[in-house]
This record gives sequence, structure tokens and C-alpha cells, in this order.
Amino acid sequence: MQQARTTCPYCGVGCGVLAQLDDEQMTHVEGDGQHPANYGRLCVKGSALHETLGDHGRLTRPRVDGAEVDWATALDSVATRLAAIREAQGAAAIGAYLSGQLLTEDYYVANKLFKGFVGTPHLDTNSRLCMASAVAAHKRAFGADAVPCCYEDLEEAELVVLVGSNLAWNHPVLYQRLKAAKTRNPLLRVVVIDPRVTDSCEIADLYLGLAPGSDGRLFTGLLARMADTGKLDRVYLDRHTAGLEKALAAAREDDTSVEVIAADCDLDPERLETFYYWFVTQLHVVTLFSQGINQSSSGTDKAGAIINCHLAGGKIGLPGAGPFSITGQPNAMGGREVGGLANQLAAHMDYDTPGAIDRVTRFWTTPGLLPTLPEGPGHKALALFEAIESGEVQAVWIMGTNPAVSLPDANRVRRALERCPLVIVSDCAAATDLLPFADIVLPASGWSEKDGTVTNSERCISRQRGLLPPPGEARHDWWIMVEVARRLGFGEAFAYTHPAEIFDEHARLSGFENPSDPQGEGSRLFDISALAGLDRAAYDALAPIQWPVTADAPHGTRRLFEEGRFATPDGRANLVPVRPRGPAQSLGPARPLRLNTGRVRDQWHTMTRTGRAPRLMNHRAEPFIDLHPDDASSYGIEDQQLARLCGAGGDYVGRARLSRGQRRGELFVPIHWTDQFSGRARMGSLLEGHPDPLSGQPESKHGAVSLAPL
Ligand code: SF4
Repeated sequence: MQQARTTCPYCGVGCGVLAQLDDEQMTHVEGDGQHPANYGRLCVKGSALHETLGDHGRLTRPRVDGAEVDWATALDSVATRLAAIREAQGAAAIGAYLSGQLLTEDYYVANKLFKGFVGTPHLDTNSRLCMASAVAAHKRAFGADAVPCCYEDLEEAELVVLVGSNLAWNHPVLYQRLKAAKTRNPLLRVVVIDPRVTDSCEIADLYLGLAPGSDGRLFTGLLARMADTGKLDRVYLDRHTAGLEKALAAAREDDTSVEVIAADCDLDPERLETFYYWFVTQLHVVTLFSQGINQSSSGTDKAGAIINCHLAGGKIGLPGAGPFSITGQPNAMGGREVGGLANQLAAHMDYDTPGAIDRVTRFWTTPGLLPTLPEGPGHKALALFEAIESGEVQAVWIMGTNPAVSLPDANRVRRALERCPLVIVSDCAAATDLLPFADIVLPASGWSEKDGTVTNSERCISRQRGLLPPPGEARHDWWIMVEVARRLGFGEAFAYTHPAEIFDEHARLSGFENPSDPQGEGSRLFDISALAGLDRAAYDALAPIQWPVTADAPHGTRRLFEEGRFATPDGRANLVPVRPRGPAQSLGPARPLRLNTGRVRDQWHTMTRTGRAPRLMNHRAEPFIDLHPDDASSYGIEDQQLARLCGAGGDYVGRARLSRGQRRGELFVPIHWTDQFSGRARMGSLLEGHPDPLSGQPESKHGAVSLAPL
């Protein structure tokens, strides 16, 4: 029997796992007591990790045009067909769509290959669906995509506000930590702001069941309230920020009385007044926000409205204080670090970061081989599939994700893939809704089989370790891309033989020609250059560490902006004017009900892993529709009866679950089920594709549907 440390592959909490290995089998997992994310805890999903393994249902052989082939044939086909399209149509006719399930090393190689050497800007990721609005809001406010807080801040706060976050289901270990902190400190208050009564309300001192999409109005109202009650931190604002007057003027364009704000948000004025009073009178406030804020056509502004309130009260850069975006996926943060979003270039540099294109070009230049970086950003997720549908993009390589299910307007994604001359899919699962569209299928290794790093929501880099052999002929994603790069003639720039070498290059690029000042003018906050040069043994033994990791901070950085200096040119944070907007998907006689979507406690994404563990199916065994009993009665639907939703591009059949935690006129469905599991349960087909204009994140929380009994 052997025990090994690794990291859970599911949510953005990024818990450390101790895996027990017996005779090349993983027989047990438990929480790693030394990991700073969880200190020994695991949730139900994490504790069933060993039950989701095994060769059954895995892709084990490459396929080209439906026929099983050997790797050399498959890799030759990928390279030959990509090269032909690049030659005939140009590099921008090629796209890639990645996943927050990939390890940072895989992401790094993909970004370097597609943007650096193929020369296409069109590389995006399903992390676009997760936290792109928070990224855009961070950049606007702080000058860098940087999460200020750490998990301990939840335990050190006087007030924790959960907004658009069902922490109890989606980040269960963080919820356990918050619950334990509240038990230890009864003065710690928790406010839950969510249109649905969720399990997170169990620890709420105050619940605000606001109208969907009115979060921006609630927080612009709070900013005005802080000013009207003399609760702005004038000293902090004067020293460390800019933009207060414009942000306040925008907030005051709407009526700022609590009664009117409460009416706009469909809230009880007394409860809203209580929340405002608690927020303005406490310094140590953490506002934890997640997909309920981000998955909106005005997600960047909503996140900005939250950040404004923290800056205005000086509630940031302190223990127990700050706006805290929690990512959904295990490595949504790691993808951002290497430039895995279409608007990024590399290593947290954007195309318009001064000198970035030149700097990255020089860093990636290999003797005899010059990178050909694009000049500007590529298509973000929804636009990428529109470009595929229109024929502008002729080839797409999709890795570790299933846009045919998860993207809004999912049937349009299917039409786009049907028309696309070349679809390459790298995946672990042998049966997904995506594979029928693939011309070339590449079997990839998965969790417990591959080595690399992931970064969780508090900027903590942790190792995932390869403990078991991949099944059949499955290979690591980075290896597959290296082999294709070699065949495309870029071999010298991709001469990696182990993920440790990729991590080393990634760490060196993060600090390449960085200014000595870690914050302030022209700086890049993301810097892990002190982790460069690790040999394989040191890389394998790498302990969890929070970035930045520099010569000045060799043990990492728990909390950002403690000195009140930000990564903007003048070192000041920006308050931004926010004018609240409602959902873009409008209700009407044909589709009169508002649709909310989200995860369930014991499942992950399209269930290719969690669907393999019988005990995880006990919590919710089939697709469902949560609705208020009054709505059920109006539509003639009984509890547990099958019902059908019709949305923008398709329909969905699920079992009705009557709940007084739902607001009237609003429904909730899970995101997980696919046509593989159930005939008609792809929630993506119900939604229109309305992206936030700044972040490109689609509006997945505000669909419009009709309802009928089946
Ligand atoms: Fe895994 Fe998230 Fe559960 Fe932790 S909270 S064990 S990271 S699913």
C-alpha cells in the first residue's frame, strides 16, 4: 500500500487529496491535512474520486474518419490537415477550444502552439463560461486579473456576503470552512443574496431573494448609500483610488432611496436596509461572488459594482476583507495564467500590454524558428462557434470539454460543427454528444494519470500527480500537441520531454523582463519566476503555493494589495461607473418563464466522471425542473410529474420538483445531463447566446422558456 498527494479535479476550491494505491489501483481517497485549501476536508464528490476510475467507458484508441488508427497515423492526419487549411485559408482559419479541466502545462503548450506558431488568435476556453466577467472587472479596477483574497479571509471576516453563489453545493469545502468559522465566532454574519433559497441559506443570518439580474442595482444602490450615510473611507479613496465621482454620479442616476431600490430588486425594504447597514458599518467584509454574477450579459458591470463598494469603504487588502471571485473549475485560474483566453496573449499579458507581443516573441524564439504571433485578440467562445458556422474558421481542435452541451445556443454549436471541414476532439470519454462531430478523435489521459499543476480560486498552485497508467493508448494532452508541433515543423520550440520542463518555461516567461517593482507602473502582477529551474524531483515535490512567487516573496503571497498599491499605471484602483441593465433574454407570451441554470451538489459538468459513481447519482438521479407550487398549479403539473420546457433553440424534459425556495415565474434546471444520459435534457439548447459585451461571458442564468406537462 502506498499513499500519494494530489489535487481534486473538480471545483475551484482545489482541495488536496491523499490517494491510497494498492497494486496499481486507487482504493481510497481522503483529504490532505496539509493542503491549505481544505486541511483534510473533502466533499462528497471529492471523496468518491477513486470510484470514478477504471478503463470502462474510456477512449483508448485514436480514430480518423471513424476508423481506429495508430498514433502516428492520427498525428500525421492532424498535422497534414491543419497545415493544408493554414496554407489555403490562413492561420486565422484555425481555432482551438480548451477547458478549465486541462492542467496548466497542457494550457501553456496549447497557447504557445496556436497563438505562437500556428499564428491564430482564435484560442478560447470553457473558462469563458465560468469567470471571464470577473477577469474583466479585475482588470478594469485593479489593472490586473488578480483575486485579492485568500480562503482564510472568509474565516477572519465579520461579514461574509454570498452573492450569486450556492457555496454549499458548488464549493462545498469552502462552505464547510465558513460554517465552522461561524460556529467558532458567532459574531460572524453571513448574508445570502440569490433568487433561489439554496442550501447555503442554512447558515445565513439574512437572506435576500432578489429578482434575477437585479444584483447590479443592489450594489450601485449600496455605493450611493455609503456616500449618503458618510460611510465612504475618504482617506483610502484619496490615497489609493480614482473614479469615485463618476461612479457615484452613475449610481445616483437611479433613485437611491432604499424603498425604490428594494422595489427594483423585488426585496423587502427592511431586509435590504439591514444588509446595507451591516455592510457600511463593518470593515472586515468579504463579498464572495460566483457564476450568478458572472454568467450575465452585464456580468462585468455587476462584478464592478461589487468591487466599487469594497474600494469605497477601504474593505480590501485587509485580513477578512475584499471582493472574492470563486472560480467554478479546478484550473480556470491556471488557464488565465498562461493566456488561455482569446483576449489574452500569454502569462497574464494582453495584446495591448505595452511591449508584450515583442517580449513574448523574443522569449519564444528558438534558433532557426521565429514565432508568428497574431496582432490582436481572437474570437471568444460564442463568437468562435459563430465563425465556424459562417465558414470563417475551417478547423477547430476541442480539448476536454463538450460545447455541444454546455454552450448556450447549443444546437447552433452543433450546426457549426456539422459544417466545419475539420473537427479534432481530444477527450477521455468514449461516448459524448460531441464525438459524432469529430473527424479525428484523440484519446487523452485524465485525472490520476497525468502530471502537472492547477491553480485554485485563491491563486494557490498545486500539483496533480500521475499515479496510474492511462488506459489503452491514451496520451497526455501536452504530448499530443508536442507531436503535432513537431510534424508542423516547430519541433525545436516544443522539445519538452516532461511537464517539469513546461512548468519551468512557464515560470520563466511569467517573470521575463518584468519590472523590479511587483506592483505599479507597467508591472505584471502574475510572476512565479522564483519557481523556475525546479528539477524533476523538486517539481514533483512542489508544495501548494500562492502567486506571486518572486525573489521578494519566495514563499508566495497570501493576500494582494495590502499596501494599497494596484497594478494600474498610477498605482491607483479604479472605481467604474455602473449603470445596471436587466437580462438580455426577454420574456414574452411564447416564453413567459425565467430560467436559471446551475450545478447540483454531487455532479460535475457533463457527468463523464461523476456519472460513473453510483452513490453520486443518489442525490439527484435524473434531470429535473425546480418550480414554485403556484406555477405548478397554474400549468397543471404535479410534484414529480414529467414536464417539458421549450426555449430558444430546443426543449428539455425533466421531473418537476416543487419548491417554495423558487420565486414565482422562475425555474431552475441542472447543467449536467446530456443526450447520452437522457433523451432531451441539454439545458444549453434552451438558452440564447447573449454575451457580456466586455467579457464575452454568455448569459446562462437568465433564459426564457415555456412550460407544459408531459
Ligand atoms: Fe473537490 Fe471542490 Fe469538493 Fe474540494 S470542494 S473535494 S475541490 S469538489
